[in-house]
Amino acid sequence: MKAARAKTPRRPALKKPPAPGPKDPVGVYCRVRPLSRQDQECCIEVINETTVQIHPPDGYRVFRNGEYRETQYSFKEVFGTLVVQKDVFDVVAKPLVEDLIRGKNGLLFTYGVTGSGKTHTMTGSPGDGGLLPRCLDMIFNSIGPFQAKRFVFKLDDKNGVDVQCEVDALLERQKRDAMPVPKTPSGNRRQMDPEFADMINVQDHCKVDEVDEDNVYSVFVSYIEIYNNYIYDLLEEAPFELIKPKPPQSKILREDQNHNMYVTGCTEVEVKSTEEAFEVFWKGQKKRRIANTQLNRESSRSHSVFIIKLAQAPLDADGDNVLQEKEQITLSQLSLVDLAGSERTNRTKAEGNRLREAGNINQSLMTLRTCIEVLRENQMYGTNKMVPYRDSKLTHLFKNYFDGEGKVRMIVCVNPKAEDYEESLQVMRFAEMTQEVEVARPVDRPLCGLTPGRRFRNQAFREELARKLEMRGGPVNGETEEQSASEIFLQNFPPLPSCELLDPNDDQTLPKLIEVLEKRHKLRQMLSEEFAKNVLAFKTTLQEFDSSVISKENYIQGKLSEKEKTIAGQKMELERLEKKIKTLEYKIEILEKTATIYEEDKRNLQQELESKSQKLQRQASDKRRLEARLQGMVAETTMKWEKECERRVAAKQLEMQNKLWVKDEKLKQLKAIVTEPKNEKPERPSRERDREKPVQRSVSPSPVPPSSNLITQVPSSQRLVSNPQVHRRSNSCSSISVASCVMEWEQKTPSHKHTGGTSNARSRQQEPEQSRDYNTSDRRRGMCWTGVIEVPRRRDELEIEEDQCCRNAPPVRLRHRRSRSAGERWVDHKPPSNLPTDTVMQPHVPHAITVAAASEKALAKCDKYMLTHQELASDGEIETKLIKGDVFKTRGGGQAVQFTEIETLKQESPTGRKRRSSPSNPDPPEDAADSEWTDVETRCSVAVEMRAGSALGPGYQHHAQPKRRKP
Ligand code: ADP
Ligand code: MG
Repeated sequence: MKAARAKTPRRPALKKPPAPGPKDPVGVYCRVRPLSRQDQECCIEVINETTVQIHPPDGYRVFRNGEYRETQYSFKEVFGTLVVQKDVFDVVAKPLVEDLIRGKNGLLFTYGVTGSGKTHTMTGSPGDGGLLPRCLDMIFNSIGPFQAKRFVFKLDDKNGVDVQCEVDALLERQKRDAMPVPKTPSGNRRQMDPEFADMINVQDHCKVDEVDEDNVYSVFVSYIEIYNNYIYDLLEEAPFELIKPKPPQSKILREDQNHNMYVTGCTEVEVKSTEEAFEVFWKGQKKRRIANTQLNRESSRSHSVFIIKLAQAPLDADGDNVLQEKEQITLSQLSLVDLAGSERTNRTKAEGNRLREAGNINQSLMTLRTCIEVLRENQMYGTNKMVPYRDSKLTHLFKNYFDGEGKVRMIVCVNPKAEDYEESLQVMRFAEMTQEVEVARPVDRPLCGLTPGRRFRNQAFREELARKLEMRGGPVNGETEEQSASEIFLQNFPPLPSCELLDPNDDQTLPKLIEVLEKRHKLRQMLSEEFAKNVLAFKTTLQEFDSSVISKENYIQGKLSEKEKTIAGQKMELERLEKKIKTLEYKIEILEKTATIYEEDKRNLQQELESKSQKLQRQASDKRRLEARLQGMVAETTMKWEKECERRVAAKQLEMQNKLWVKDEKLKQLKAIVTEPKNEKPERPSRERDREKPVQRSVSPSPVPPSSNLITQVPSSQRLVSNPQVHRRSNSCSSISVASCVMEWEQKTPSHKHTGGTSNARSRQQEPEQSRDYNTSDRRRGMCWTGVIEVPRRRDELEIEEDQCCRNAPPVRLRHRRSRSAGERWVDHKPPSNLPTDTVMQPHVPHAITVAAASEKALAKCDKYMLTHQELASDGEIETKLIKGDVFKTRGGGQAVQFTEIETLKQESPTGRKRRSSPSNPDPPEDAADSEWTDVETRCSVAVEMRAGSALGPGYQHHAQPKRRKP
């Protein structure tokens, strides 16, 4: 049967290209109804505003092989059991109504299993109106004052709309009024069916904010049912036969020139209020129920579609009448669909006759599913599969919403009871998939091009006219005046007598009629005169009004020109100020730039200042260090020179004393010669004489050696005794002669007395030789006299000194020397306090006995001694002094060391002080004796010679780096 039905052939040429504009996904909302009994098991929970969680009921796992799991589904918004109808309406339907009034199409449908609350959501329950009555209410609240008079808009049979003139509309209205069928009482709630009265009792006067006031609007509603893939018009007025009711005629679908689908021949009722519209809907609802009962139909198996069409057209330029242009009319529609239950056939327990129906219903929902799936696939993967809209009436009817444009919203209703679990799961899956389908966003309709505010101006004009007329005593209201005039007119005319002429001789009827007619004629003349007068009056009023309008216009023109002038002036001022702003901005920019440059300069200068101050600080600290160093050097030099001066003074004194002593001696000798002229005894050397006659010695001061350049290593017993004597003598410069001192010393040491004579004599004989030898050797090897220690001296030394003094030579002492041919053996005395230096070239002494403290044992084995002494120089460097000397055996059996040289080793920076003995100067002039020092020997000899008055200072130091003589 279905296959046999001829389908409208497709017209590809007319196919509208897919809308290129922006697209919006299908808005899918979920509403969870409360459980009907509190003790029922619940399997759906609302997690948050957008998510629901569905879990299988208890025991479900047993059947499903452990497939137990909770699943979450997300929607645009989820309405829990406590969400009221108004909230659902505000979120879901309000935007659709706004779109409708702005001339855009919308589709809203509820989907879910039977009993999940689809009808409750869409239509509502008694006392709790659903989306449908709320939508109607909002529409009429918004367009209420701008509605067109009935029949101004006229829907044609091709889903189009026409506008007709006021007269035609009036005629149609009269025709409708003349019809015997009772009219819908517009806007009277008291007369409404109490069945639904409380469903449209919507308190909140919801309305669209921006309604075009210069448009006139008309609402048309139609209500259809799709059952068993047949479309039935629920508003069709059909003669109802009680005895044998005819089955309702199904309708067919067609596509209009805008590619919208419509039901041909469907009743569309123009409604002027919410109540009227809902009454129409309720009539259809009743009819549906009757049909269901009479035809034994399952009501939940049908889809119901309530279509609200809104026609709107702009007012003409006067703002008085609708613009009579078809192109200017906009027709938008909102379809509210309450779908059939989505449950599967077996669940409904449909049998026999109903089984097919159920199958078909499922089929149309299945087609809807397939269409959505294909659409989604096409959109997601860019495929171009054909969407099978035509496979069911339901999908075919709404085809244009999906491949054309419009806003589509779906409310998925679910019952959280356990029995519905599986069906609810299917519903959720379908709903989630639907969200991924996108629908082209409807475009805004073009503007009509007439100046806005026309309606308002027209109203103002009418009010002004009425006021003027009232002032002149004329009729106030056009309509009431019309009525009263006609009434007066009819009342003023005398009633016509009976005009029947029953008798040919009747001579009364005609004269009476003539009389009445004459009266009427007179009255008519009177009235026409009055009318003419009125017309004249009206004309004058109009002219006056015209002139006043003109004068007002002139006045307004003047005002306008004035205002225009002011505006122009202000514009100029504005321009001037803008220019000023621009120049100021430019200046600010320049100033900012300059500021940044200056800041940079400042930064640079600050940096420079910092670096300079750092440099200055560095220099100051350098200066301080240099000062300290110089002060140290000055102090050192001063000290040295002071000592040198003292020494020289002492030397000079000694010299003078010696001279004095010599003169004294000479005088004595002379005196002796003079007093004992006859003494034949050969003259003995004065020394011997001194020894024999120590007591007779002169009291003249004995000569003292010029400096203590000798450190004598003596047995401690001897040293202890001799020390105070020497000191006393040298320090006090007493008059006791050297010889007497020696005598005294010899008497105090009786152990030496016995052998003393011979040994002394022997040694005395050797002495002159040795002293001479030493003298020459010393002269050759040089003597270091920079030591600061006052050294105690032995008697023999003193004797030699006496001789030396007599001979006016530097004091030399008698000593033993080991033969050089035996090979020199050294005692290397290194005190443990010495610090190791990092100098590359270190003094090395072969065959040395290294000792930490001077030991007599070691000295006995060696003939050379070297003491390594360290001290801190004035410049902070360690100065190492190698004090060298020869070891002698003393007569007492001890060891004596005669220091012969001091070698100073000093570390210096190569770039520092200028070296006195530089290796870079290999061939210095021979005569520069004071600056060229070749070896210790030369230096020492010079040092000794210097004693006699060299100009060289005492602090002369040999800087050891370039030349170090190996011992
Ligand atoms: P459907 O149309 O899906 O078959 P109905 O709308 O007829 O289901 O709902 C079945 C019953 O559940 C009705 O009695 C209705 O009053 C009730 N109901 C549905 N949804 C709600 C809800 N959100 N709040 C209260 N009652 C509801
Ligand atoms: Mg229902």
